[in-house]
Amino acid sequence: MTNSLNLFERSKKVSPGGVHSPVRSFTSVGGTPVFFKKAEGTKLWDVENNEYIDFCLSFGPLLYGHRHPDIAKVVRETTELAWTFGAAEPYSLYLAEFITENIPWVEKIRFVNSGTEAVMSALRVGRAATGRNKILKFDGCYHGHLDSLLVKAGSGLAGESSSDSAGIGSEQISNTLVIPLDDEIALEDLFEREGTNIAVVAIEPLPANYGLLIQRKEFMQKLANLSRKFGCLLLFDEVISGFRVSFKGMAWELGIEPDLVCYGKILGAGFPVGAYAGKAKYMDLVAPQGPVYQAGTLSANPFGMRAGLAMLEKAFKENPYPILEETTNYFTTNMINLLNKYATKIPDKEGKIKSDFQWEAVAYGSLFWFKEKTEHSVRSVSNIPLGHKERFAKVFHALLKHGVYLAPSGYEVGFLSTEHNMQILNEALNRAEEGLSKL
Ligand SMILES: *Cc1c(COP(=O)(O)O)cnc(C)c1O
Repeated sequence: MTNSLNLFERSKKVSPGGVHSPVRSFTSVGGTPVFFKKAEGTKLWDVENNEYIDFCLSFGPLLYGHRHPDIAKVVRETTELAWTFGAAEPYSLYLAEFITENIPWVEKIRFVNSGTEAVMSALRVGRAATGRNKILKFDGCYHGHLDSLLVKAGSGLAGESSSDSAGIGSEQISNTLVIPLDDEIALEDLFEREGTNIAVVAIEPLPANYGLLIQRKEFMQKLANLSRKFGCLLLFDEVISGFRVSFKGMAWELGIEPDLVCYGKILGAGFPVGAYAGKAKYMDLVAPQGPVYQAGTLSANPFGMRAGLAMLEKAFKENPYPILEETTNYFTTNMINLLNKYATKIPDKEGKIKSDFQWEAVAYGSLFWFKEKTEHSVRSVSNIPLGHKERFAKVFHALLKHGVYLAPSGYEVGFLSTEHNMQILNEALNRAEEGLSKL
């Protein structure tokens, strides 16, 4: 019969790990993945008809929840218009015009099919524009699975790199420099040594793929200043933060204009869309206008373009961001109360229980992350408390059992949509209490 366990067993026989993206397999939290069949608003239903309130939201694209009626209408219309042309069409133009009109540092934009593709292409532009080879990235920032950025800081000298994945040749990462976040000294030191060799400085301006590591504005400003001084292009990877923290994204929140910017997730409203964009003088290097080749059979497909525009226009007009921040604060504050009431005695990997353990929430806009309460804000990977993964796994399963779905990893952030109103949030909190009280 169709239950999740059965489907997972079958899946494992035909796909690596039974999934098509690693986190989905639940390896980080243990157990077997739930197979979902349907979604609407804030709700998910699994193949056994269990219902969940969704705080993962496909890792971010669903600003208005699943299948919002205003967007669903546009998707239905598109079904009758065309599925793909592989030719010039007006829908991508409308979306490109809307974004370039409303985001000052986006003068030109090229649509692709994923965040990974966007970042990969933006690096190519940056190298072509500067005639340099090296890329600077930050430990804990995720930019998709392109070879050259699947790298974290090595344990040795700052700037030394080792790959995060098998199958990546040392030559592919030999031009990638990696330093920690939140560290001005490492930053200055690195620019001193390598500044004139760096083509692109790539960063998530709101790092949200290794917990939520909110950076100090001074650090971001110093990064921008050094990039300018040494003639490197500053690339903001706003795949997760773009149109999520505010319409103009984290660049606007920080008051820093990037040279190049990447979008994804919300941009396609749940359809596979990414984009790289920026100053015209750089984007004009892209083929067929310029010498930087980049193409895509399904690029700018009408579903993504039309659904994306419907979502962005709605967000621009309604400005849901202040309310999202409020509802997120309400939810996280109450969740932390519950976690501190019921979930402070979870053993770590060695089976040790920390006597003074307390939870706290890190939140920015409608993104949130639950972690151990620490004396200082956690802004870099090395400061993430030990035992986090094990504790999160217990909480995750307690919630899952009672119909609250978080992203299945302690290093992924959670999201709220506009559909997460007080009634839904209170229901989620009630369910969470039921689950956590049994820990
Ligand atoms: C999700 C994400 C990506 C990768 O996008 P995909 O569409 O999964 O390829 C890149 N950068 C950031 C910041 C992301 O959050």
